[in-house]
Amino acid sequence: MIQNFDAIIIGAGQAGPALAGRLTAAGQTVALIERKLFGGTCVNTGCMPTKTLVASAYAAHLARRAADYGVTFEGAVGVDMKRVKARQQAVVHNARNGVETWLKGMKGCTVFEGHARFESATTVRVGDKVLHAGQIFINVGGRANIPDMPGVDRVKYLTNTDMMQIDTLPKHLVIVGGSYIGLEFAQMYRRFGAEVTVVEMGARLIQREDPEVSETIQQILEAEGITVRLNAECISFEPCKTEGGEEGVCVHVTCQAGEPQVVGSDVLLAVGRKPNTDDLGLEAAGVTVDKRGYITVDDQLRTSVPGIWAMGDCNGKGAFTHTAYNDFEIIAANLLDSDPRKVSDRVTAYALYTDPPLGRVGMTQAEVRATGRPALIGKRPMTRVGRAVEKGETLGFMTVLVDAETKLILGAAILGLNGDEAIHGMLDLMYAKAPYTTIQRAVHIHPTVSELIPTMLGELKPL
Ligand SMILES: Cc1cc2nc3c(=O)[nH]c(=O)nc-3n(C[C@H](O)[C@H](O)[C@H](O)COP(=O)(O)OP(=O)(O)OC[C@H]3O[C@@H](n4cnc5c(N)ncnc54)[C@H](O)[C@@H]3O)c2cc1C
Repeated sequence: MIQNFDAIIIGAGQAGPALAGRLTAAGQTVALIERKLFGGTCVNTGCMPTKTLVASAYAAHLARRAADYGVTFEGAVGVDMKRVKARQQAVVHNARNGVETWLKGMKGCTVFEGHARFESATTVRVGDKVLHAGQIFINVGGRANIPDMPGVDRVKYLTNTDMMQIDTLPKHLVIVGGSYIGLEFAQMYRRFGAEVTVVEMGARLIQREDPEVSETIQQILEAEGITVRLNAECISFEPCKTEGGEEGVCVHVTCQAGEPQVVGSDVLLAVGRKPNTDDLGLEAAGVTVDKRGYITVDDQLRTSVPGIWAMGDCNGKGAFTHTAYNDFEIIAANLLDSDPRKVSDRVTAYALYTDPPLGRVGMTQAEVRATGRPALIGKRPMTRVGRAVEKGETLGFMTVLVDAETKLILGAAILGLNGDEAIHGMLDLMYAKAPYTTIQRAVHIHPTVSELIPTMLGELKPL
């Protein structure tokens, strides 16, 4: 028997639950389908557990630096991985239970647990049940990409999901992929006490960023004892024994410099993400995807089929929790508030949670140069930020790009203490479409990292 609803939502990630809340509050009946863990990637295997682990790693790092602050204690700093994991799991369970309890108690929302597959443009099957609705919202997210590298199927490898189950310290963690996810794991595991090697195919880490950002992050990681292998053009894997005679993995790296092989006790694959669209029956509904499997959507997140929308990582318009949540806001505004919000109103913004973190908004220097328009640049090292000096955390720099004619901020990066927070002043100004002089004349609180942003904006030079 077919069950009828006003709306079906597939996936309880970052957009689906919030949309269920808005639709039911508007009096609609909603079927929400989740096949695994409520809260999706961010809550269970992404943002929340990683940032919880980053906090433990930071505590260990600061404890080792205690003497720099005049603080002394007896004995060496130890990391109890079982307690580190327990802390991470407690944070995750609390968040997951919160989402699950909220959805299951939501008036007008019926939760189905199982894998959803389209049977037509208006029907979805979950197990032996068939659900029907005139509106269907896809929020299926993504998973770790397993690269087609020689030998990958012959070795035991870890993904971000597996990393959440670890409660022992890998002796030597080899991380394939020198981008955002890989670098966060690299620094945290180094700080927990593991030997860590990052293997990156490209000529520098986090290649989406400007070279000075990549290079500074590399220096920061290397100073903590992380080995970085760049230009690893041909990567392959083979089971082998470690120096201590234990089971390990040989990672062959054809690099311009260094040993041709790295022997790790464990290997983490951090080479991008893949949308969960391959087993969704999209063809039965007529929903089109691009060549990488991302659902094609317009600026207001409508798919190729009227009555079906896609939000979050699966539409390829964003790869973050805040972009997934914004997708929910765009759809809710269009459907319920007669407010034509759209994806192209969004300003690029994200952070890398190494220590110090990188806060990023808008364009990079390379992107601004490519536009050919006259631009100005401001830069200030964190050694000249009083708050950073006081806290003894002066690594990194802040930089801003301004359109020389319109005076609008085009982009900014703060790689430094509190960079993930301090960047928001510039982000908000970009949303306000106000000239940089607005911040330059603002009186910021002393002592903060943000207080140096007006100073930096007062020292702009041609790019
Ligand atoms: C290690 C790591 C760290 C990250 N850190 C950050 C960070 O610090 N900040 C940030 O903004 N982003 C971060 N991200 C990215 C962030 O987690 C994602 O962008 C975000 O979770 C995307 O949300 P979503 O709603 O699109 O999908 P998801 O959160 O992945 O949710 C999709 C849900 O759909 C369910 N589902 C899938 N297919 C089906 C089906 N057929 N039937 C039923 N249910 C289905 C899944 O089980 C899942 O629960 C990180 C990601 C990783 C991997």
